Amino acid sequence: MPQEIWLALALAAVVLALTAARMFVRTGQIGRARVGPVLGRAADPETAARAAETLGALIRCKTVSHDAPRERAEWVHLRDELKRRYPSVHAAMTRETVGLFSLLYHWKAPDPQGDPLLFCAHLDVVPAESGAWRHPPFEGLIEDGHVWGRGALDCKHLVTCLLEAAELLLRQGFSPTRDIYFAFGHDEETGGAEGAAALAALFAKQNLHFALVLDEGGALTRGALSLRRPVAEVGVSEKGMMNVRLTARSAGGHAAHPPRHTALGRIAEAVCRVEFRPGPARLTPLITDLLTQLAPNLSFSWRFLIANRRLLRRPLLRRLARSGETSWVRTTFAPTTARAGTAPNVLPDTAEAVLNVRLLHGERGEDILVYLRDLFSGLDLEMEVLFSQDPSSVSDYRGAPFAQLGESVRAVFGAVPVVPFLLASATDARRYEPFSSHVFRFCPFVLTPDESARMHAVDERVSLEALGLAVAFYEDLLRRCAGPEAEDSEDLKDPEDPEDREDLKDTEDPEDAKDNTAGPENTESAKDAKDSRDAKTPASAKDAAGGDVRGGPRDAETE
Ligand SMILES: [Zn+2]
Repeated sequence: MPQEIWLALALAAVVLALTAARMFVRTGQIGRARVGPVLGRAADPETAARAAETLGALIRCKTVSHDAPRERAEWVHLRDELKRRYPSVHAAMTRETVGLFSLLYHWKAPDPQGDPLLFCAHLDVVPAESGAWRHPPFEGLIEDGHVWGRGALDCKHLVTCLLEAAELLLRQGFSPTRDIYFAFGHDEETGGAEGAAALAALFAKQNLHFALVLDEGGALTRGALSLRRPVAEVGVSEKGMMNVRLTARSAGGHAAHPPRHTALGRIAEAVCRVEFRPGPARLTPLITDLLTQLAPNLSFSWRFLIANRRLLRRPLLRRLARSGETSWVRTTFAPTTARAGTAPNVLPDTAEAVLNVRLLHGERGEDILVYLRDLFSGLDLEMEVLFSQDPSSVSDYRGAPFAQLGESVRAVFGAVPVVPFLLASATDARRYEPFSSHVFRFCPFVLTPDESARMHAVDERVSLEALGLAVAFYEDLLRRCAGPEAEDSEDLKDPEDPEDREDLKDTEDPEDAKDNTAGPENTESAKDAKDSRDAKTPASAKDAAGGDVRGGPRDAETE
C-alpha cells in the first residue's frame, strides 16, 4: 500500500479516537446524581383521614360536565359541602360563583406585598358507567386505604387538598402576605368555554397579574426513560390541538360491482398512512432542557446520547420514540372517529374519519394541513378543520416561582428531580397564560402507570397517604410564597419587569423566543429546532402519491 494511504488511515484513526474521547468527556461532564434513598415525609394520618372524608363527599356530588342539562342540585350540594367542611376558609375568604357553577375564592392579604397567587382545579368530572367498577363510581367509598370514585384523581382531590391546606393554615392563625385566589372551573372536561373562560374574563376586568399560577397537569411519575426514582414533572406548556375531518366521496352504487377504490377504502388507506408514517421527530428547546435536567439521573447510554445530541440526534430521537415518549418529540396524529355506509350491500357515497392532532412547538395549523395534504396525495380526500389551537406559550422555568415550587416538592417528597415538562393534553391553565409568565401544571401526587391509567377509566382512586402529602405540599408552598417567613416578594419577582425577563432574551432564533425560555444552554437547541423545521416534510410523505401503503411497524420508529 502506498505510504499516503497509510498516512490517511492513521490520520482518520486519530480523528476518530479524538472524537470518541470528546464524546466520553462530554458524557462525563453531565455528572451523576447521587442516588440516595428518596426520604420524603410521612403524611399526617389525621389530615389524610379528614381530606379523604371530604373527597368522598365531593365524589358523591355527580358533577358530570357532559350532562346536558346539568344537574343543578348536584352542584348546589357540592357548594354546600365545601362550605360545611371548611368553615375557616369560608369565614376568611370571599366566594363568588362565576360562569354558572365555577367558584372563585379570594383570600385577601391585610397588607399585600407583591402580585397575587392563583391555584386552580376543576369541579367537574367525566361520566362513569358503574358496571365494571370495583366500587360504584359516585359513592366515594373509603376502602383499602384509598378513596374510590370518579374525580379521585381528576381532579376533586386537588380541590380538597388545596382547601384543606388553607383551612389548616387559617386555624394556625396564618395571614397571607399577598392575595391568594382559588379558581375551580366547572366544565374543564368539555373545554372550559363557560368556566375558565368566564374566570379569565373576570381576571382581565380586574386587571390581575399573578406571580404564580398552579393548575393540574404533571405529577410525580415513575418510569419515564427507565428512571426508577420518581420525577416531578411540572408542566410549563401544552401542545396544540387540532381535529381534522377527512372525507372521501364516490358515486356509491351496488356492492356487487365495486370500483377499484371505494370511498371507505380511501379513508382506510389514509388512516394507515397516518399510523405507519409518523411525522418527523425533533428536539424542541423545552424537551432539550427536560432531557438535560433528567440526564444526571439516567443510565450511561442515555447520558451519552444526550451529551452528544448534536452528533447522535437520530439515535436519540429513535430511542425516545421507542421508550414511549414519542409525544415529546413529534406532532402526533390519532384517528378517533370514523363513519361510512348504511347497509351491507350498498357502497357508501361518503366515508369520513376524524384525526386528533397534538402539535409540537414550532408547528401551526397551516403546517399540519400542508403535511397532511402531502401525506394523502393521490387519495382525493377533502379536509375540514373542526378545531384548531396552536401550542401554548412556554412559562418561564428559570425564575424564582419554579424554584420555589421545586423547594416545596423536595420538602415533602424528598430528593427528587424537578423538571420542566410538556403536557400533551389541554387544561384550563392555558386560558390563564395572559395573566402570568409562571403558569405551571402540577399535581403533588406520586402516580404509578397503573394509577394514571385509572383516570377517565374504571376504578379511579387515590390513597389516603397521597392526600395527606398533597395537603402538606400546598401548605408548604403557601407558606413559602405568601407567608411571613417567605423572603418577601423579592422572592417572586414581578415577571413583567424587563430585568426579570433577561433570561428570555438570548435565543438566536426570534421565533423561538416566543415559545421558549432559552438561556445560553438553549441556543444550541434553538438551532436544532430550526434545522428540523427546515427539514419538516418527511421524504416518505413525498413519495406517498400513487397509493400503496409501504412500510410497516418498523417505519413507526424512523424519523
Ligand atoms: Zn382534569
